[in-house]
Amino acid sequence: MTTAAKQAVKSWSSTLLLPKSSFPARPSAKDTARYIQRCADDLYSWQRRERSADNTFTLHDGPPYANGTLHIGHALNKILKDIVCRTQLAQGKRVSYVPGWDCHGLPIELKALERHDWKKGGDHDALAVRKAARAFAEAAVQEQMSGFKSWGVMGDWAGHWKTMDKDFELRQLSVFKELARKGLIYRRLKPVYWSPSSETALAEAELEYKDDHVSTAALVKFPLVRHPFSHDEQLVSAVIWTTTPWTIPANQAIAVRKDLEYVVVRSKAHGNLLLAQSRLDFVSALINEELQDVQHTISGSGLLDAQPNYRSLFNIHDSDRPLFHADFVKSDAGTGLVHCAPGHGMDDYHALWPLIQAKEISILAPVDSKGCFTGDAVPNDGSLLEGQKVLSDGNKTVLNLLKEQQSLLVSYNYVHSSPYDWRTKEPVIVRATAQWFADVSSVRNEAIASLEDVDFFPAGGKVRLTSFLQNRSEWCISRQRAWGVPIPALYRVDNEEAVLTAESIDHIISVVEERGVDAWWSDAANDPSWISPQILQHARVEDFRRGTDTMDVWFDSGTSWTQLPGGIPSNRRPLADVYLEGTDQHRGWFQSSVLTRIAYQQSTRNLVVPTAPFGSLITHGFTLDEKGKKMSKSEGNVIAPDEIIHGAAYPPDSLKKDRGKGKAGSFTASPGPDALRLWVASSDFTKDVIVSDTVIKNVHSALHKYRVTIKLLLGALKDFNPTDLMPYHELSQMDQIALLQLFQVKQVVRVAYEEKEFYKAISAINRWINTDFSGLYVEAIKDSLYCDDFRSRTRRAIQTTLYRILTELQAMLAPVTPLLIEESWEHAPEGIKASDVHPLHRSWTPAPKEWNNVDIDTILPVLLATNTAVKSAQEKARSAKLMGSSLESFVTLLAPNNPSGKQALVAWQGSAMRQMLVVSDLCIALGGDERVSELEHELSTREEIQTWMYNEPIEFPDGSKGWALVQKPKSSKCARCWRYRADGQAYNEDLKVSNAGITDTPVAANDTKTEQLCARCRAVVLDLQKATG
Ligand SMILES: [Zn+2]
Repeated sequence: MTTAAKQAVKSWSSTLLLPKSSFPARPSAKDTARYIQRCADDLYSWQRRERSADNTFTLHDGPPYANGTLHIGHALNKILKDIVCRTQLAQGKRVSYVPGWDCHGLPIELKALERHDWKKGGDHDALAVRKAARAFAEAAVQEQMSGFKSWGVMGDWAGHWKTMDKDFELRQLSVFKELARKGLIYRRLKPVYWSPSSETALAEAELEYKDDHVSTAALVKFPLVRHPFSHDEQLVSAVIWTTTPWTIPANQAIAVRKDLEYVVVRSKAHGNLLLAQSRLDFVSALINEELQDVQHTISGSGLLDAQPNYRSLFNIHDSDRPLFHADFVKSDAGTGLVHCAPGHGMDDYHALWPLIQAKEISILAPVDSKGCFTGDAVPNDGSLLEGQKVLSDGNKTVLNLLKEQQSLLVSYNYVHSSPYDWRTKEPVIVRATAQWFADVSSVRNEAIASLEDVDFFPAGGKVRLTSFLQNRSEWCISRQRAWGVPIPALYRVDNEEAVLTAESIDHIISVVEERGVDAWWSDAANDPSWISPQILQHARVEDFRRGTDTMDVWFDSGTSWTQLPGGIPSNRRPLADVYLEGTDQHRGWFQSSVLTRIAYQQSTRNLVVPTAPFGSLITHGFTLDEKGKKMSKSEGNVIAPDEIIHGAAYPPDSLKKDRGKGKAGSFTASPGPDALRLWVASSDFTKDVIVSDTVIKNVHSALHKYRVTIKLLLGALKDFNPTDLMPYHELSQMDQIALLQLFQVKQVVRVAYEEKEFYKAISAINRWINTDFSGLYVEAIKDSLYCDDFRSRTRRAIQTTLYRILTELQAMLAPVTPLLIEESWEHAPEGIKASDVHPLHRSWTPAPKEWNNVDIDTILPVLLATNTAVKSAQEKARSAKLMGSSLESFVTLLAPNNPSGKQALVAWQGSAMRQMLVVSDLCIALGGDERVSELEHELSTREEIQTWMYNEPIEFPDGSKGWALVQKPKSSKCARCWRYRADGQAYNEDLKVSNAGITDTPVAANDTKTEQLCARCRAVVLDLQKATG
């Protein structure tokens, strides 16, 4: 290119209307805080102020635990909540989201102890522990809050609640009081999961099952005293199989099944043994002896008819123990006889309940809080086991003692699944202790019934929650820890009898109100204020002490519905529109919320039919790495939310070129919180969610695409004012296609948001933005947008369409990438800013019906099929290095001579086809395969176009076929718009090909500056020259 030519190109490009916007190509970290303030805090206050109180939406926060730094699971949870709230905001609702924190409980207590270097289980002043735990939780809340806010989560952060707030505790105590009034709270010796390592009772939700736990399994025989077998010369012994030999000292009974067959078999080594017939092989194998010498066969019910009993192995003075029927005895496990210790087994306790009530047996649990035997384990010689840990030495000693008295047949290591303390990762035992319980059985049916009115998303949540409620009869609500809300019970010093009535609790609540809950621990033991005057009428202050148990934290968070307007004392149904948490909360928070709510309603009878506290229940899965593994520090597969926000772990390709400009390994631009949000929205949260290199990379590039698109839209609209909007019918066919596609994506996105299938919305937006908008529309309009006269109606129509697209894109992305939308408003053209409403303040409105144009919808598939064929023919030319830009080609389309071909002709004749193809000239004709060769021949004989030609079949939607021919363009290229000028004549008129292309007139030879231009460009440039003098 000569210097003059270069000059000319440069000056032509200055006459183009290229998009221009101040919208930055990359987000700037310094603006992030400002945009978050506006799109979260300011937006939340705005809608609380401006939106009507008659149309509200409440999402009640499942409180995160105030412990530790935020991880990717927090991000999934909090951002999902925010997207749900923002989709409701977009529907015109006034949204309420008040964040909360769960602050009590063992993990925080342990952290506080650690921080002060106090030993776990040591004897510390409860008040000091509470003070340290409170300080720890307070700091964690502040840290987590600033993290949540940095993700653009919108809510009433200033009005947040904590389970350690005095107000929260008072409400919780008043719920407890109502339950006590209804008689739903009681104290009982009962087996509970007990963690020797934390020295506390644990709820089901605090257990973790370890599949490779190793126990010592043993076969133990108990000598029968009374039995139906005629063996006077030798004893008959009942054989049991156990994986917890340490519970044998607490044995109270042996369970059998009425419908099983039992045998007495003679063993050379162990004498006459009673066991189930179906378990002979099992026992034979274990004791390494063929057991074939069957002495007797009897049914379980026959056996029980004889009212058999046996001798205790560890308490020689005790009366003999019974055999009884229990459904849990299996024909294919153990020996068909089951050792029962109700002090150490839930099933045993339930099955033996009638005998316990009849005082025929006792709930013996000779194990202390540290998991060591007490002297009661062997009543006639306590020293044999006392002080030994049941899970180690104690178990061995029991086996040795059994061996000594020849009661042990065999013992061996046995691997099985067993519960562990989820915090200390140490094994858990079952141990009967005096605990406080909430009676779930009497509210269970109403609780389950209340779920009928709840929408579950996904739907499977209903079955899950129902089954957790169904399988729970009691709820152990007491914990032997300092950091919690006290169980407001008084105990008689002389006999440990508990006093807990609505009246006594009411009195305690009034003292807490006045002094704060810490006073329960700090006040002198003989402070009379805590004992109600009514109690003191018949007793003295010294007769009582205040209890030291605290409430299960699930009771704390379970009563968080009391924070909602209408929770206490009145009733509204339901209190919250949505509860949203991970699937693990079916057995945790969801369950405890329903139970406390229903029990409270039952007690106060404010509603005839008790209702769940939520109208909808949304649950999400967990976050996993790309191999489907749970993220953990030890695995080294943890991805922190910040890494997605700052792009440190996975820089998108578009940002890579910035490497080196900043410090090593850092990037000058970070994708920002919208990246984290977009990752959440792109995930199908109903299943476990994968976070991986690829996933994050895709998210970053999608976000970058949104940014590029918005920059283009704002730039193209820089001289546009919404008052310039053109009516739909004046738009070009291509514009109407764009609006039809916009209409369609909007429909899909709207439904997806309503159904909470955010990933479907995002995938529809991504497909539309890449294929329909960038791939089709932008390509088609570039020429007019950049090269037409700025006053041209074509360009104005395009701007009208682009304005619609900007507005709808803002609406579609607002719930997910609010920062980007805020930024798009900051940089919006003045004309738009002056007359439009802020995009985050808008409510969704249905798209105009006219956009859903049936005529356009009918021809579009034909146009798209044609476009595909032309593109693929062009690709052939490109591979052969014969052409670059698609403008360097002329296209001829052939339609078959049949009805569908005639329809195609109509479609092609519209203006959209030529725009869509972005070629310099287009001819269309009727004709089949034979016409292709004819035409090829005809065209090849014409000098000016002979150099190259490629063809490609067009597959029409109805299955018929046409042809696309692509050939080298005639004439020369316009220096301004790069179109090739056609001569204005149909070059094959004899074949009845019509010319739908640009008709051009030869340029004036005397105008050196404009001689390389097409007619359109020439006119625009001359006009510009006139205007600038
Ligand atoms: Zn031109």
